[in-house]
Amino acid sequence: MAKCSVCGRPAVYVAKYEGKAYCPQHFLEWFDKRVRKTIRKYKMFRKKEHIVVAVSGGKDSLAAMHYMKKLSERVPGWTVEALLIDEGIKDYRPTTIKDFKKWAEEWEVPYRIVSFKEEIGASLDEIIIKGHELGLPYQPCSYCGVFRRYLLNKAAKEMGATVLVTGHNLDDEIQTFLMNIMRHDVDRLARLGPVTGIAEHEGFVRRVKIFYDIPEKEVVVYSMINGFFPEFVECPYARLGFRWDLRHYINLLEEKYPGTKFMIQKSLLDIVSALKKERGGKPKKCNICGEPATGDVCRACELRMLLGLMEPPDWFDMKSIKI
Ligand code: SF4
Repeated sequence: MAKCSVCGRPAVYVAKYEGKAYCPQHFLEWFDKRVRKTIRKYKMFRKKEHIVVAVSGGKDSLAAMHYMKKLSERVPGWTVEALLIDEGIKDYRPTTIKDFKKWAEEWEVPYRIVSFKEEIGASLDEIIIKGHELGLPYQPCSYCGVFRRYLLNKAAKEMGATVLVTGHNLDDEIQTFLMNIMRHDVDRLARLGPVTGIAEHEGFVRRVKIFYDIPEKEVVVYSMINGFFPEFVECPYARLGFRWDLRHYINLLEEKYPGTKFMIQKSLLDIVSALKKERGGKPKKCNICGEPATGDVCRACELRMLLGLMEPPDWFDMKSIKI
């Protein structure tokens, strides 16, 4: 059994990419040091913040809520709330909502739950059926991602958030990066990074990813040592997404060539920084709902009209929607 590189006690985690191992106590110290370094390096927070943590009930977002609650207790001027988006996914979301409520109450984090059904007009399960009836491509994660991002921003603003924290980790970010490269989606590529949402645009709440430099496995270890690793339930649509396969291949590469994930992230940061300079520019306001948009109408409104969940205004040309 590996021994802790700091104290020699049995290790619970081996960081192959740096050739070190850690016992529970020294893992937590090492984890905390690296998250604080991430926060400083990317200038994520200001002196006064009303922090809203986007929580799904999964391990990453629970870890983000746990970490931010603890951190905020040491920083006067910071308050923390949590926000959960209920997409309406049968046999999945109810379990994660239960976990979310249990921990939010135990850690005394006030929270709000916003549902697709109430805000968008249908649950994700219903949206998928509607999409099928209308002959639209089968893309649960695309609908889910668009509506979730839209509602997170809208609800966080309503909660008075100055910053929105998400639990995205190193693995999530490099998967998104490679997915956008493989799909030649350069505009989305340009919107990646540890801090997103454009500070100067009143419609956006700044978003920060506190686990940006932390591999997924380490967030798992953090949640296990702290005793809140949630019951494993998987979204029924997860395995259908491109991300599922990509995640598997990246993990194989990391196992064989430790440090691969960090090298991909370095490339990502260089490419995104160059792209932001070239493609920068203020987003517009959606002419229908007033939320931020890259064109005249935001993607959430386009999809709602396409799915028959909203009447298009007279001036809008439905043929302009790209599927
Ligand atoms: Fe939504 Fe896809 Fe994630 Fe399921 S796997 S919660 S459908 S993005």
